[in-house]
Amino acid sequence: MKGCVFCKIINGDLPSDKIYEDDSFIVIRDINPVYRTHLLIITKKHISSVNEIEDPDRDIFSTVFLVAKKVAAKEGVEVNGYRLTVNCGKDAGQIVSHFHMHLLAGEPLRNL
Ligand code: 5GP
Ligand code: ZN
Repeated sequence: MKGCVFCKIINGDLPSDKIYEDDSFIVIRDINPVYRTHLLIITKKHISSVNEIEDPDRDIFSTVFLVAKKVAAKEGVEVNGYRLTVNCGKDAGQIVSHFHMHLLAGEPLRNL
């Protein structure tokens, strides 16, 4: 999608600190981390938000938690724990309109 920062990262038009990639996702470090470990699990397909997920996308999302688990282990945070967050829309504070799941960890997280 033209003008989408995450599409530019996926296409290699913008740099990123990428720690994982498969057919459906890339995982990068957030440019502005709010915890010691702050990863973004991003669909390679441009899907603007959870509201735009369609039935044919079910295959993509069947693996999203497996990717999360894999990168949590890779980062060494799987034992102490982590939080997975998806913001959808303005009241949730979504600022990038391309599906991504935050993986937050590395220190005790504030209660929701
Ligand atoms: P949202 O509020 O949309 O769920 O979160 C978007 C996240 O993307 C924010 O935490 C922000 O710091 C991160 N972000 C925005 N632009 C970039 C970028 O160009 N590179 C990286 N690595 N992260 C970005
Ligand atoms: Zn995009």
